[in-house]
Amino acid sequence: MKIGIDIDDTIADSYDSFLKCAFEYDKTLRNTGIVSKKRLYHYDFDWTEEEISNFYKVYFGRSFGGVTPKEDAMEILKKLKDEGHQIVYITSRNNMDTKFSAYDITMEWMRKYNVPYDEVITECNDKEAICLREKVDVFIDDSESQCTNTARNKDIMVILYDEFNMHVDYDKSPRANTWNEIYNIIKSME
Ligand SMILES: [Mg+2]
Repeated sequence: MKIGIDIDDTIADSYDSFLKCAFEYDKTLRNTGIVSKKRLYHYDFDWTEEEISNFYKVYFGRSFGGVTPKEDAMEILKKLKDEGHQIVYITSRNNMDTKFSAYDITMEWMRKYNVPYDEVITECNDKEAICLREKVDVFIDDSESQCTNTARNKDIMVILYDEFNMHVDYDKSPRANTWNEIYNIIKSME
């Protein structure tokens, strides 16, 4: 099967990496700290549009390049790859008007941690469209809106990765709280 997978906060602890950089940067401003607990990255701080833009100009590489793979995700991804599945990462990461390349940073990270992959596609704002274009059989993401849209297509098995979505009311497709649960859902489709 062809499996389409999100990167940030699905196979990697991206929010934690972002926060490390964000707190450092926030201290150089008003040191207000987190003002919202929605886990919406820069929107969780009181930064202006200009301050957000300045943050990424400096911290883009460290924030996205410094993410740590989720251990249980790596184990299952290797198993899926060994079993012959094709793995394509579908991420909305983009260069955000900085000198950094989201694609290069992501590829470097993949190699550093030996993350199994067949293909990496960045700048995917409309993941439903990418899933259709790439003809994926399974799509896994922690974004409720991306899952809701993609789940409109009955030929795609969508799995909402649930770690940070427990409060979200969602019944469009299976939810999985761990990568072992994801593995079991995929196995049940074979
Ligand atoms: Mg994500």
